[in-house]
Amino acid sequence: MSRYWSELTASLVPYVPGEQPKDQKYIKLNTNENPYPPSPKAIEAIRSAAGADLRLYPDPSCDALRETIAAYFELTSEHIFVGNGSDEILAFAFPAFFSASRPILFPDITYTFYPVYAQLYGLAFETVPTDEQFRIQARDYNVPNGGIVLPNPNAPTARYLLIDEIQEILETNKDQVVIVDEAYIDFGGESAVRFVKEYPNLLVVQTLSKSRSLAGLRVGMAMGHPDLIEGLNRVKNSFNSYTLDRLAMAGAIAAIEDRAYFEETTRKVTATRDRTVEAIKPLGFETIESKANFIFIKHLHRSAKELFAALRDKGILVRYFNKPRIDQYLRVSIGTDEEMDTFIEALREIIDGD
Ligand code: PMP
Repeated sequence: MSRYWSELTASLVPYVPGEQPKDQKYIKLNTNENPYPPSPKAIEAIRSAAGADLRLYPDPSCDALRETIAAYFELTSEHIFVGNGSDEILAFAFPAFFSASRPILFPDITYTFYPVYAQLYGLAFETVPTDEQFRIQARDYNVPNGGIVLPNPNAPTARYLLIDEIQEILETNKDQVVIVDEAYIDFGGESAVRFVKEYPNLLVVQTLSKSRSLAGLRVGMAMGHPDLIEGLNRVKNSFNSYTLDRLAMAGAIAAIEDRAYFEETTRKVTATRDRTVEAIKPLGFETIESKANFIFIKHLHRSAKELFAALRDKGILVRYFNKPRIDQYLRVSIGTDEEMDTFIEALREIIDGD
C-alpha cells in the first residue's frame, strides 16, 4: 500500500558511505581514516572528562574548544563554529547560506554529500565540469551563482587547488558565500584560513577526522566572518542546543594543542603516500597527484571493478565508485607502511597473475 509519507521518504536519496565491516580481518583503506591512533594526550583528556561531570549538560557554545581553535589559527572565537564532524557543519551551512532560486556551484566530480544536502533542503545547484584529469579551473566559477562549495583537496579525486586559484574564486564571487571544504588540507595543501579576515563571504571547513585521527569522536570546525558563524548558529539552534558532548570537546582541545604529534603523524602519512605512488607506477598505475591522505589510481589495462574485487578477496578494502567517469579509478586511503606494503604486494600478485 502506498502512503503519502512513504512516497516522500522514497524520494530522498541519501549519501552512501564506504563499507565499515564488523569483523576486523580487513586492511581498511576505504574510508580515508588515519592509520595512526589519536594523540595520547587526546585519549588521556577524554579519560579525565569521563567522570561525574557527565551528569551535567555540556557548554552549548563550546567556548573552550572555540578559543583553542581560534588560537591555533590566530583568529578570535567569534570566527569559529564547531560541529559533530564537518558533515554536520555542511548540513547547517547549506540551508543557512544557499537558496532554491540561485544555484550553488560545485565540481561535477566531488564529495557526494553536496548534492544530497542540496536535494534534502530543496536548494538549486549546478555542477561545474572538471577536465579529463579532474582539474578544477578557477575561471569556470566566474559565472552567476548563489554560492560555491569547493573541496580542497577534492574527494575522491585528490585534486587540489593552489591558494592563488582559491583567491581568484573569492575575488570574482564577493556577494555569495564560498565554502572551502578542507577535510584533507593538512596532508600538503595550503589552507584558505589565511583569507578569513579579508573575505567576509569565506567559510573554511575542517575536521579532526583525518589529520588528527579522531573520526570516531565526530568533531569538525568552521572558520569564517562572525556574521557567517551567526548564520550557522541560527540553523544549529533550530535543531539542537548542544553541539558537542563533554568527551568530544575535551579530546578535541588536547588533540589541537598537541602539535608535535599531529606534525609527526601527518608527515608519516604523506611520506607513505608518496612512496606508495612510486611503488605502484611500475605495476601500470596512473595516479592523480595527491595532497590528501588517499590516492586516486587507475590501471592502464585492468578494470577497477575487477581490481577492487581481487583486493577484497585478499582482505584489503579500497573504494570503488560505480559511476560514470570515475569507474576506472580506485580510491585508496593511506595506511601504515606495513599495510601499504601488503597492498602493493597484493597488487603485484593480482597483476602478475599470482
Ligand atoms: N568533506 C569531505 C570532502 C570528506 O571527504 C569528508 C569525509 N567523508 C567530510 C567532509 C566529512 O568528514 P567528517 O564529517 O568526518 O568531519
